[in-house]
Amino acid sequence: MTAPARARGSQELIRAEEPVLAHNYHPLPVVVARAEGAWVEDVEGRRYLDMLAGYSALNFGHRHPALVDAAHRQLDRLTLTSRAFHHDRLAGFAERLAALTGTDMVLPMNTGAEAVESGIKVARKWAYDVKGVPADRATIVVAADNFHGRTTTIVGFSTDETARAGFGPFTPGFRVVPYNDLAALEEAVDETTAAVLMEPIQGEAGVLIPDDGYLAGVRELTRRAGCLFVADEIQSGLGRTGRTLAVEHEPVVPDVVLLGKALGGGIVPVSAVVGSREVLGVLRPGEHGSTFGGNPLAAAVGTAVVELLETGEFQRRAAELGTVLREGLAALVGRGVVGFRARGLWAGVDVDPALGSGREISERLMREGVLVKDTHGSTIRLAPPLTVTGEELRGALGTLEKVLTS
Ligand SMILES: *Cc1c(COP(=O)(O)O)cnc(C)c1O
Repeated sequence: MTAPARARGSQELIRAEEPVLAHNYHPLPVVVARAEGAWVEDVEGRRYLDMLAGYSALNFGHRHPALVDAAHRQLDRLTLTSRAFHHDRLAGFAERLAALTGTDMVLPMNTGAEAVESGIKVARKWAYDVKGVPADRATIVVAADNFHGRTTTIVGFSTDETARAGFGPFTPGFRVVPYNDLAALEEAVDETTAAVLMEPIQGEAGVLIPDDGYLAGVRELTRRAGCLFVADEIQSGLGRTGRTLAVEHEPVVPDVVLLGKALGGGIVPVSAVVGSREVLGVLRPGEHGSTFGGNPLAAAVGTAVVELLETGEFQRRAAELGTVLREGLAALVGRGVVGFRARGLWAGVDVDPALGSGREISERLMREGVLVKDTHGSTIRLAPPLTVTGEELRGALGTLEKVLTS
């Protein structure tokens, strides 16, 4: 028998974390022990519908059979080589990811923040090598209320004081403009601009969807100004909004797209910078790298994720169930919900502050068997796995109604 003599309960495990775990998170008081599909189960055997889905890292649900199978098969054959050698899974992964996203080249990394850092490096290199910006003068324009990750460079151009304060000095070369404001963007772009880096929908900010035409405007403006459009689709991409990429809701093809989260199938961290040959082609051996980027296990899981998305089934589900989500939320406006924004299976819901903070609403939903996460203030985010059924989704909306109206 290898099992511990006495399994520890939720409260005991939460208390045990306190002295040994850095306090950079404030999780809901649920201790998950196993999961399948859209459902997780805690240490005491209580079941919860997962309406957060790992911030979209679990777009295909927990332990999707095709993804787990791909991982198992790869674990039994080859897991790591480093990029010092070729391995037999990388070409297929890169070819299929490029084809899925309609791009030429792929730079595989691990986490989302690394993909963003890599996108920044590539954009700067392109600015010097191709555009001819004088050395060390390149600028990148970003949007207020952005979320692009947690490295020092990235938090340096965040407008969230909690994310920034105490971590300076920061990397220079970034300009912040209001989101969804083309005139402000036009003003900020000049001959030093390497790229405009933006989320097509701002997830952490509360699922903020720009006006129709904004992203097409960004594309047109960057083309005219001779700078790159880098779209951070780490949370919005790979089926979440009802399309493979969120930019596809407008006739927009960015120069560079950043992918992560769902690309790892909820199994391993997998991220990638995908884009045109003109841009990603600027990198030469030794100029950038990652020990784990594009490793065989990551490539096998990533390829299986791309295979799922190639069928279009998940994008279709997200679009169809998105209607259920929107209608359900619309029925709650004035009954605890003051407003919401939704696209596909992704919604930011502003709850009447009189009913409690987003955190308090999240805790009440947890006690009723639904897991969500507040973004800030009284806004909660709903992002179930794309495998959720209509019935499960209606059940979660019913629970939300109960929590808000009782
Ligand atoms: C989560 C996220 C990131 C950072 O990804 P990590 O894997 O947590 O480093 C970057 N950009 C966006 C839009 C994200 O949602």
